[in-house]
Amino acid sequence: MKAVVYNGPKDVSVNTIDDPKIEKQTDVIIRLTTTNICGSDLHMYEGRTSFEKGRVFGHENLGEVIEVGAAVDRIKKGDRVCMPFNVGCGFCENCERGLTGFCLTTNPGTAGAAYGFAEMGPWQGGQAELMRVPYADFNCLKLPEDAEEKEDDYVMLSDIFPTGWHGVELSGFLPGESIAIYGAGPVGLMAAHSAEIRSASQIFVVDSHDDRLKLAEAMGAIPIDMRKGDPAQQILDATGGLGTDRGVEAVGYQCCDRHGKERSNYTMNCLVKSTKATGGIGVVGVFIPEDPNAPDDLQKEGKMAFDFGNFWFKGQKIGTGQCNVKHYNRRLMKLIEQDRANPAQIISHRLPLDQAPDAYKHFDERDAGWTKVVLKPGT
Ligand code: NAD
Ligand code: ZN
Repeated sequence: MKAVVYNGPKDVSVNTIDDPKIEKQTDVIIRLTTTNICGSDLHMYEGRTSFEKGRVFGHENLGEVIEVGAAVDRIKKGDRVCMPFNVGCGFCENCERGLTGFCLTTNPGTAGAAYGFAEMGPWQGGQAELMRVPYADFNCLKLPEDAEEKEDDYVMLSDIFPTGWHGVELSGFLPGESIAIYGAGPVGLMAAHSAEIRSASQIFVVDSHDDRLKLAEAMGAIPIDMRKGDPAQQILDATGGLGTDRGVEAVGYQCCDRHGKERSNYTMNCLVKSTKATGGIGVVGVFIPEDPNAPDDLQKEGKMAFDFGNFWFKGQKIGTGQCNVKHYNRRLMKLIEQDRANPAQIISHRLPLDQAPDAYKHFDERDAGWTKVVLKPGT
C-alpha cells in the first residue's frame, strides 16, 4: 500500500510499504477515505521528537472496515468508522474512568497512546491506504447513515473537534461566560466553534495570521491580532480591564521557535494576564516533557518561566493534557448529524495522498490559506 512516511526533519515521502495485517483477533483493518494533517504532526515533521524514520504519520482517520478479527463483535465489514487519535484498550483503570488518552495497556508506563506518533506507542498512522485498529470494538466510532455526505465533518471527531471542546471544558466554562482562545489553528478554531455552540457571551481569538483570524471572525469570534501589540492587553482593554472568565491555550511549545523572540511560556503568561481573577484556563496545546532541540536551557528540560505568582494571586484554576476523545465523540457526532455543528468549515485543502509532501511543507510554513488539509487516499 501507499503511505506517508517520515524520512527525517522536514522530509516526508509517499512510499509503498507492506499492508497491515490482523495481528490480534480484536483488530480490524480500515481502508482510509479521509485522513488529516494536524498541527501535532508538525512536532514530528520538524524533527523535535524521537519519531523513527520509516514510521507512518496520521492520527485523524476515517474509513471503511474491510477486514474483521474473529473476536470483534460490534464492528462489521462495510461499516464506516472514525477513530479517536487515542488508542485505548477499554479495560484498564484509566479507560474504565473515561481517560482513554492515558490508557495503561497500549503504551504502558507513559501518558497514553496515539496512531503515528512519537513516544506514544508503536501504532502506525493512517495517512495511508490501509491501517490496523486494535481493540476495534472499543476504538471505532460507527458513523450514521449520512456518513459519506458529511465525511469531512465526521473526520474532525478523531481529534480537533473534541480537543477544541476539551480545551473549553478544561477551562471550567459555563454558558454565558466570556472566553479568550490563544491560537487560531485548527484546534483553536474548533475551541471557538465549541464556545459558540455552548453559548459563550464573548469569544476572543488571538493569532498573527489574517486568514486564520478571518475564519475565527466568521465563527462569531472577535479577532485579536497579536502583531498589533500585547494580545492580553488588547483583551483587557476590550473587557473594561477585567479580562475574560475563561481562557484556552491552543498553541503549545512550538510558538517559541516559530515566532523567534517569544518563548513557550508566552501564551501561558498571556492567559494568566487576560483571564479574570478566579477564572479558569484550559491548556490543550502540546508541551513536551524534555526537548533537546528547544532553544533555551529551561525548555530543554521541559520547563518554563511560568508566572505562578499572578496565577496564584488571581486564584485561577488550570486544566491540561491530551483530549480523551472517546469521552466526547459520540455526543459531538450527534451535533454534526443534527446540523448543530459543522467543523469542516475550516478545511482549506482536499488532496490525494500523493500530494502529502507538498501539503506538509505549506501547512508547516503556515502559508496563507493553508488552514486544514484533509488527504483522500484512493483519489
Ligand atoms: P497550528 O500550529 O496550526 O496552530 C497554532 C496556531 O497558533 C497558529 O495559527 C499560530 O500562528 C498560532 N500562534 C503561534 N504563537 C502564538 C502566540 N504566541 N499567541 C497566539 N497564537 C499563536 O496547530 P493546531 O493543529 O491548531 O494545534 C495546536 C496545538 O494543539 C498544537 O500544540 C497541537 O499539538 C495541539 N494538540 C493537542 C491535542 C490534545 O489532545 N491536547 C490534540 C491535537 C492538537
Ligand atoms: Zn491531530
